[in-house]
Amino acid sequence: MDGEGLSSPVSFLKERLGVLADEPVLRAYEAWWAREGRPISEGVDRAGTPWLKMFDRLGTRVDEILYPPGYKTLLHQGYQAGVVWRVFETASLVPSYLLGYVTSFYDSGLYCPYVVSLATAVALEKYGTESVKARFLPELLRRDASVWQGATWMTEVKGGSDLGTAVETRARPAGDRWHLTGEKYFASNAGAELALVAARPEGAPRNVRGLALFLVPRYREDGGLNYTIRRLKDKIGTRSVPTGEVEFHESEAYRLGEQEEGIYLIMEVLNLSRVANSIGSVALTQRVLADAWSFARERMAFGKPIGEHPLLRRQLEERVAQWEDAFALAWEAVALLERVWRQTPPYSETYPLFRLVAHLAKYWTAEVAVQTARWGIEVYGGIGTLTEFGMERWLREALILAIWEGTPHRQLLDGLEVMERKGAHQALLAYLRPLADPRELERMTARVEAYLQLPPSEKEAQVEGLFRDLASFTARTLRGKLGLR
Ligand SMILES: Cc1cc2nc3c(=O)[nH]c(=O)nc-3n(C[C@H](O)[C@H](O)[C@H](O)COP(=O)(O)OP(=O)(O)OC[C@H]3O[C@@H](n4cnc5c(N)ncnc54)[C@H](O)[C@@H]3O)c2cc1C
Repeated sequence: MDGEGLSSPVSFLKERLGVLADEPVLRAYEAWWAREGRPISEGVDRAGTPWLKMFDRLGTRVDEILYPPGYKTLLHQGYQAGVVWRVFETASLVPSYLLGYVTSFYDSGLYCPYVVSLATAVALEKYGTESVKARFLPELLRRDASVWQGATWMTEVKGGSDLGTAVETRARPAGDRWHLTGEKYFASNAGAELALVAARPEGAPRNVRGLALFLVPRYREDGGLNYTIRRLKDKIGTRSVPTGEVEFHESEAYRLGEQEEGIYLIMEVLNLSRVANSIGSVALTQRVLADAWSFARERMAFGKPIGEHPLLRRQLEERVAQWEDAFALAWEAVALLERVWRQTPPYSETYPLFRLVAHLAKYWTAEVAVQTARWGIEVYGGIGTLTEFGMERWLREALILAIWEGTPHRQLLDGLEVMERKGAHQALLAYLRPLADPRELERMTARVEAYLQLPPSEKEAQVEGLFRDLASFTARTLRGKLGLR
């Protein structure tokens, strides 16, 4: 990929994937971002946390979120382009992930509302009763500015990693629906018209098996607020999505799927977002490289542009190669999810392979994004640290990509679990066999097998080194699939 090619996410996708579904739509979406979206996004980031207006002038609780001018224009572009409705029209997730890549090149935070809305629609369509689906799904699939948004709220104040213990939100049956009482501590896209919420039905065990997934509308059937927003969080990045603390007080809710399947449904929701997180991380990496490259062409030191000095040139080439590897890994996660996303528990044999690739991709692409964003600041030098030049924003955004949808630790430990319990490493190594260098494959196989013989606590302690090697081996090998050798 040459330097010019770095500046267009759609050109990169086209070069890597060949035929693009809805290419004219993607081109128009990118052109809109380059022309109009970019300055709005910069303004939203600079404005910081959106404002919460809790009461109207007569003292009625309204919990309205007030955004900087232009935010709604920005937000609705992606919905109109089809980040949710196209998935249902084409029966494929691919158009949504392609739009997500373009979105994240400009604003990785804004990809969050799209992903959580898509996850809400997918879970509702798969697991809602016919009457709940008929009532709510069309609202999420509208193509104009009246479209409803979704959200996925699992994390509570006692922690997001150990949901089985930390979720205290209670669910009580109430006729044809449920009533939820409790709170969520990290609730992105606060204000969404529909939210997926993890809660524990009364009497259910205090572990992950005791969790169920519920759909919670913003308004009760009588028109009153169904959940309240306690406050909005002041975050270092992703300011184009309001993240709040929300409270449920006997909130009306509809259970999705069977209670015993709750944790599987919650994992499906998270996995769809983790794949999106990987796509967002790779797109952000491209953006950093594009900005760094365009600066390095013009900034002079020691008589020539800094990008022409051998050291910086080599660093750029290595980072570009790593970004292309990261794309191959993230795209494989999309391709595997495309094969399994319609499945329901107990799933097919491909599911553990998908899970392992998704954990590898979520972990490794976020690491690459953070490291590349830090390097981008170095390339800009002192002005890299100044808010007025934009490079520092990519580091703030990248740091959040590593945390939400499950921290690196979570990806590593869940990846280890799917290897040990489902043999997913064997499926992965067999999957890579036709593409891999046979000696490298043999070395990697021996490394994984030796690692899995370690005593349990040593296995946990050493999992990061193994995961890093496995992720970069998988990514390098998959480049061949995209014609990138
Ligand atoms: C901007 C933002 C938006 C978010 N939006 C949402 C949202 O919309 N919905 C939602 O549900 N959540 C959301 N989250 C929450 C996010 O998913 C959690 O922050 C994340 O899952 C980690 O949970 P925690 O922050 O409670 O950390 P904890 O679970 O308390 O963990 C603290 C640290 O301990 C580590 N740790 C935990 N267990 C182990 C272990 N066994 N071994 C080693 N280390 C371990 C963790 O990895 C982490 O580093 C959001 C977070 C952020 C930052």
